[in-house]
Parts: sequence; C-alpha cells; structure tokens
Amino acid sequence: MFYNNYMERRTERLQDLEIDTFSLEEALEYAYKTRGQVVTLNPEMVMNSRDNASLKNIIQSADLVIPDGVGIEIGLKILGKKARRIAGIEFAYACIAMFNELKLPIALVGASQEVNELAVAELKKKFAGLNVAYSHNGFFKDETLIFEDLKKSDAELVLVALGSPKQEEFIYKLKKDMPNTLFIGVGGSFDVWSNKVERAPEFYQKAGLEWLYRTVKEPARFRRIFPTLPLFVLRVLKERICK
Ligand code: UDP
Repeated sequence: MFYNNYMERRTERLQDLEIDTFSLEEALEYAYKTRGQVVTLNPEMVMNSRDNASLKNIIQSADLVIPDGVGIEIGLKILGKKARRIAGIEFAYACIAMFNELKLPIALVGASQEVNELAVAELKKKFAGLNVAYSHNGFFKDETLIFEDLKKSDAELVLVALGSPKQEEFIYKLKKDMPNTLFIGVGGSFDVWSNKVERAPEFYQKAGLEWLYRTVKEPARFRRIFPTLPLFVLRVLKERICK
C-alpha cells in the first residue's frame, strides 16, 4: 500500500508546539506506519496548553499533531509559515477506511451511549465488514476498566471522543501499553457520524468557516470561541513581534 519505508516529520513551531505540515495523504501514511497518539490541534487547545502543563507536555510528545481548523493555519501564516489544515473528523474517517481495508480491528470510546451505538451502526453501514473490536460510551467512572478492555481487544485504531483535554490525557496514559495502536482524539466526531449533529454545509467547510456556522447555529459555543480566538491571534502576533 505504501512505498516509502521511512518518513520523517516536517513540523513548524507555534507557541512552543510542533505542528505537522503533511498533506492528508502523507499524514495518513505516517500515522499508519508510526502509530501512537494523534492530536488534532485547534486554537483553543493551544491557549489551554499555556496554563495546563500536562496538556502541553502531551501535545509536545504526541506522534503527530495535525492542524485541525483554519485557526492554526492562520496562526502559522502570521508567523510566515505554511501548513494546510486537515479536519480531524476527515482524518479519522480516512483512518477508519484504511484500517477497514486491511481488516484491522478498531475501537470507539466516547460520547453518550446512544451516540456511541449509533455512530458504530452508521460506520458499519458505510464500511462493509468493519471490525469494531470494542466500543464504550464516554461517561465512565473508572478509566482503568476501559484501559483493560481496550488492551484485551487488540484494537489497532482507537478513536477517543471525550472532548479536550480529557481525550488527550486518556490516550497519553494508555498509549505506552498499546505501542502498536494508532490513537486519535476526535472531539465531537461521533455526534456527526451518528447523524445527531450535522456538519456545516460544504461551502463553510471549504472556506474554513465551519466554526462560524456552528457558533451561529449553537450560540452556546460562542463563549468557547470568544475571547479564545482573538486572544490566540494576539498571542501569535506577539510571538512574531518578539521573535
Ligand atoms: N464527552 C464524553 N465524556 C465526557 C465529556 C464529553 O464522552 O466526559 C463527549 C461528548 O458527548 C461529545 C464529545 O465528548 O460527544 C466532545 O464534544 P465537543 O463538542 O466538546 O468536542 P470538540 O468541540 O472539542 O471537538
């Protein structure tokens, strides 16, 4: 399937974090070969990592950090660097397709019981013969039980939808015990795959304005994005000026 045996990361630095600049195809190949933790980075996480040393360390030691969303693309542009955004949900979906083609077992952890079950059912409809070795909702008390079940499942792709930074911490604790597995923190992706939440129309996705569409439709999100997004831009401007 892939021809290169060895691939090196090509990263750019933003706010002390290394961000991969791979195309979608390259990122898929790298993730498949390397396994480990994929972080789908957005400006909110960058801002959180400033006060959350544990999150910062997790992002710094991730195996792949993809620029999820236009905010990171803009941030890098301000610094005169370039990376094309890769939507985390699309990256995760493409990973499911790739692992399914090879008949490798996958697992889905996170979201409500209903959303989790619906997401698994919808994915099984889309990918004939999909091998879902394990699935669990994201509202559990004891994560060590989930860790044990995941290890037993031998899943090679584990998608974790607990929101950030919970999903990044969950993956970080587990990854050393499952070194041949690819883990991706996927945020609200199960809600979309279950058809409970719609993605923005393609126009907004292509224009990098999915966040704006979601904020208008779900005004509660406004508080999450503002003032984080303008503050993020200010921080990056400061990084550029103080360089
Ligand atoms: N979630 C969960 N357990 C929790 C908190 C959140 O499973 O303790 C799920 C939630 O149901 C949703 C997903 O995590 O499906 C995260 O959604 P959000 O929209 O916050 O993701 P983001 O906007 O960060 O991508």
